[in-house]
Amino acid sequence: MKFEGQILEIIKRTHDAKSFRFPRPEGFDYKPGQYILVSLTVEGSVVTKPLSLSSSPSEKDHIEFTKKLTGHPFSNVLDNMNIGDSAVISGPFGKMTFEGEHEKIVLLSGGIGITPMISICKYCTDMHLDANIVLIYSNRAENDLVFRKELDEMMHSNNNLKIVYTLTRASESWIGHRERISESIIINEVPDYRRRRFYICGPPEMVHSMEETLASMNIQKEMIKKELLTGY
Ligand SMILES: Cc1cc2nc3c(=O)[nH]c(=O)nc-3n(C[C@H](O)[C@H](O)[C@H](O)COP(=O)(O)OP(=O)(O)OC[C@H]3O[C@@H](n4cnc5c(N)ncnc54)[C@H](O)[C@@H]3O)c2cc1C
Repeated sequence: MKFEGQILEIIKRTHDAKSFRFPRPEGFDYKPGQYILVSLTVEGSVVTKPLSLSSSPSEKDHIEFTKKLTGHPFSNVLDNMNIGDSAVISGPFGKMTFEGEHEKIVLLSGGIGITPMISICKYCTDMHLDANIVLIYSNRAENDLVFRKELDEMMHSNNNLKIVYTLTRASESWIGHRERISESIIINEVPDYRRRRFYICGPPEMVHSMEETLASMNIQKEMIKKELLTGY
């Protein structure tokens, strides 16, 4: 489906991430974890970028994507947009989806790779699914954690959801992991990891490094779904 949408709401998530909400057109069906293509006019030409939906299909009135503000041209055009401005959207696309088809899963997310994961967590929480989810979310510092409040709230209302943060440049007061997602974090936080499917999303280097880690832990490729946020 392709449509022109007008921005309904803009939500500043962190110092360098903003969410953009659009009315959900009738008939726009998608699965948690999918992405859309967003076209904007950048310096006189139409530029199209893939962006994961950070909304959940359980949210009937709007769809949302969340963009890391990179200071580069496409990002700057978005950053300067206002409520009522329009963008051409097409989709949905992508196969890294989850609608409760596995009993237990692990979501490994790096940076803005949280966007499809929050869609999955929100969907499972809203739909009261029995699926057990452990989300391990890696970032640099506390103020880089996009959706921290939303994730913490979801964890409190959904007994089947555990969220583990890990920061590579945490402040001194941070109580939690202080390294990239590692074999030891997975073993300690997800003792039954051998019985789970894995979902990975983040920048390409992060996804490749996670694949290597899982391979060294003898997790078969068939147990892994991934989305690489290429284009940085
Ligand atoms: C399936 C999928 C889902 C994705 N989901 C998300 C998401 O949910 N959120 C998100 O933020 N991103 C997501 N991405 C990445 C996104 O599509 C963009 O590629 C990325 O955010 C970079 O956007 P930008 O605004 O910096 O783009 P651009 O402005 O096009 O810049 C991209 C890169 O081009 C180079 N560049 C461009 N112009 C200049 C210049 N003038 N000077 C120097 N270098 C320049 C830089 O290296 C820059 O990093 C996703 C990607 C994929 C494939």
